[in-house]
Amino acid sequence: MTQPKQSFFQSVQNYFDKAAQYTKLEQGLLEQIKVCNAVYQVHFPVKVNGGVKVIEAYRVQHSHHRAPTKGGIRYSNHVNQDEVMALAALMSYKCAIVDVPFGGAKGGVKINPWEYSPEVLEKITRRYTTELVRRNFIGPAIDVPAPDYGTGEREMAWIMDTYRVLKGDEIDAAGCVTGKPVSQNGIRGRTEATGRGVFYGIREAFSFKEDMKRLGLESGLEGKTMIIQGLGNVGSYTGMISQDEGGIKIIGVGEVEGAVYNPKGIDIHALMAYRKEHKTIEGFPGAQFLKKEDREKILEFECDILVPAALENVINSENAHLIKAKVIAEAANGPTTFLAEQELLKRGKLIIPDMYLNAGGVTVSYFEWLKNLSHMRFGRMEKRFDQQRSEDLIKTVEQMTGKSLRKEERDQVARGAEEIDLVRSGLEETMINAYQQIREIMVQHNELQDLRTAAFMNAILKISNDYQNMGIFP
Ligand code: GLU
Repeated sequence: MTQPKQSFFQSVQNYFDKAAQYTKLEQGLLEQIKVCNAVYQVHFPVKVNGGVKVIEAYRVQHSHHRAPTKGGIRYSNHVNQDEVMALAALMSYKCAIVDVPFGGAKGGVKINPWEYSPEVLEKITRRYTTELVRRNFIGPAIDVPAPDYGTGEREMAWIMDTYRVLKGDEIDAAGCVTGKPVSQNGIRGRTEATGRGVFYGIREAFSFKEDMKRLGLESGLEGKTMIIQGLGNVGSYTGMISQDEGGIKIIGVGEVEGAVYNPKGIDIHALMAYRKEHKTIEGFPGAQFLKKEDREKILEFECDILVPAALENVINSENAHLIKAKVIAEAANGPTTFLAEQELLKRGKLIIPDMYLNAGGVTVSYFEWLKNLSHMRFGRMEKRFDQQRSEDLIKTVEQMTGKSLRKEERDQVARGAEEIDLVRSGLEETMINAYQQIREIMVQHNELQDLRTAAFMNAILKISNDYQNMGIFP
């Protein structure tokens, strides 16, 4: 990764300051929204292969204006305090943008998770959770972690189990973490949620004719070309759903071992199956391969939509002038540095910002947390009732018209909603609404050309409302 010219947290602060000017809010209030409220750094020893490894870990709660705070836990060698602070801040703004009533937080453990066995990872995860419990940095009403880069449902299950061992008598204990396996108090649709949200966000952006015209594009997704960097959870679901439900043509994919490019299109399912079998995307039939050293060049190829779905700072001052994509859809957190964005905006690009576009994950985490607090699966109460009512309605219409539906048609129309249907529709509604709010702010401020500043303004205004309601600020 190319070193950015400024720190990640500084880049987020710069974005904040740029938007704050338009809000006309009092300086003290802006300062309170901007700072990190609590930063916890811890070192602990873990026995690894007969030796002892000292692990560096963090949990940052950026904003306590709402409780609990919320955000993922990252396992990566690049973890440092600046990064976790930046990611925690983004979580606060993200939650505000999609009306998820949480403050922002983030955790980080400085390890390469692919270097360790599951046994060691479990030890690290359980010890980290114990540290959080001891300092009151986790709990369904305090701070609720979730998956992020290098973690998944397995780690979340370990976290919940450790929490329960230590706090067994808490009735809402399952709500101490989200992104859990469905069998262990998780929710259907959480795994795909971030990628699905990215898709809904892109689709919404492409539905505005006049915005697309400005970019020299037709509205709608069918046949648009896409390049994705990163085939992790977010990148892979974004790719699959964009191809299957949007009719988008994926022409390039970048990963750690290199990148593949084929202007005729790459079937994302076939590529993922190939990578699973060969442990690399090198040699994927029909595609040009870019070696590991050149893999970041894939960001510079011509396409309609570029989706950075890996780590931060990948679009920076060194390559911003080389980006040819018309739309940059930020599935990762912080992929574009502040300085790079200035260059891209000057060149008329549309950037769909991270804090809006990847908010699908935390949105469905919110649904999971609600499910945990209610101790009931979504749809359990109303599914049969809805089904029966639709069937009665169909029967009445059939009697009135003398015509009848075929069985498959009747089953389809009368179907009561399952949990997955409700989660997807709640997510879709959230992503559409949030985009429209942001775009409206952008349009209202003629001088604003960028969605990110509008998104920040929206977040700042919503958070400031909460602080003003506390009666501390004017
Ligand atoms: N790690 C994800 C994010 O960056 C999800 C956070 C959550 O679900 O709390 O948004």
